Amino acid sequence: IFQSIAQPEIISYNSMINVCARNGMGYEAIDLYNKIDENIRDKISHICVLNACSHSGLIDQAQMIFNKIEKQSVEIIITMIDCLSRMAMFDQAQKLIDDYEKSNSPNSIMYTAMLSGARNHRHVVLSEKLYNQMKSLFSNEKSDLISASILLSNTYSSLGNYQQVEAIRIDRMKQFGKNAKVGVSWTEVNGQLVRFHAHDRSHPQSNEIYAELERLSNELREHGYEYDSTWITRSLKDGETVESVLCGHSEKLAIAFNFIQHSLPSFMQITKNLRVCEDCHRATKLIAKIRQCDIIVRDASRIHHFHTNGQCSCQDHF
Ligand SMILES: [Zn+2]
Ligand SMILES: [Zn+2]
Repeated sequence: IFQSIAQPEIISYNSMINVCARNGMGYEAIDLYNKIDENIRDKISHICVLNACSHSGLIDQAQMIFNKIEKQSVEIIITMIDCLSRMAMFDQAQKLIDDYEKSNSPNSIMYTAMLSGARNHRHVVLSEKLYNQMKSLFSNEKSDLISASILLSNTYSSLGNYQQVEAIRIDRMKQFGKNAKVGVSWTEVNGQLVRFHAHDRSHPQSNEIYAELERLSNELREHGYEYDSTWITRSLKDGETVESVLCGHSEKLAIAFNFIQHSLPSFMQITKNLRVCEDCHRATKLIAKIRQCDIIVRDASRIHHFHTNGQCSCQDHF
């Protein structure tokens, strides 16, 4: 009887905390969390409230909550490492990793979370250190190493260091082969599965797709969008712009293709073989809002549901 009452309650509490997290209402999320009986709180409650703190910059509160959690599961530790890394508190994040590794084998997601924070804060020395550690610790985990290599490359390009960007790209190709780098997206339109790779011009409606991309790009800029050059992982060729390179990502082509159909979609679904980049993620949130279209993107690590209110279900944690 207890479970049948407790279950729905905790679920609705957790989803309320999630809503607060998404809307930057960190204090409200903590209030809700504190109202839940300690015995009922589950892993999800802890993760949601830590995410809420992270999004609102409430690092002291996050640390207090974290320290009180009795069963600190891997997911909870990862959330805390992510939280600390977003705030550039890398020593504390490293300490959590060290403590964890005293009795467990290293976890690549922890390193990726920290590397992603180092990228956001343009911390080159730390990015290089983490990448090298990952290379020796997770030598068999190819997709993690590719993500790590791209994160390091982002750090270099955010500082305009294109020589290093190029060097790491060549290194990546040597290690993982050419295919590893190519992003491919699929989308189903009118019962037909269509496939795009980056800068694809092979589709018969290619001209229309690129014209639509330009319209989308103009609408994005009208809404204050700025392209993020740190997501370019190679040096620009002649005639290329930051915008033209980022617009050519396969998921953006797939989105544009959906929008040139006869009946305007209110829903579309895209699958991508790699993780979606942060620029595409930001752009897709705004496109969903401007065009009032629900967009689902399943990428290598999770399913993103971009809502018409301009938010994504992952709450920008990816
Ligand atoms: Zn992208
Ligand atoms: Zn997302």
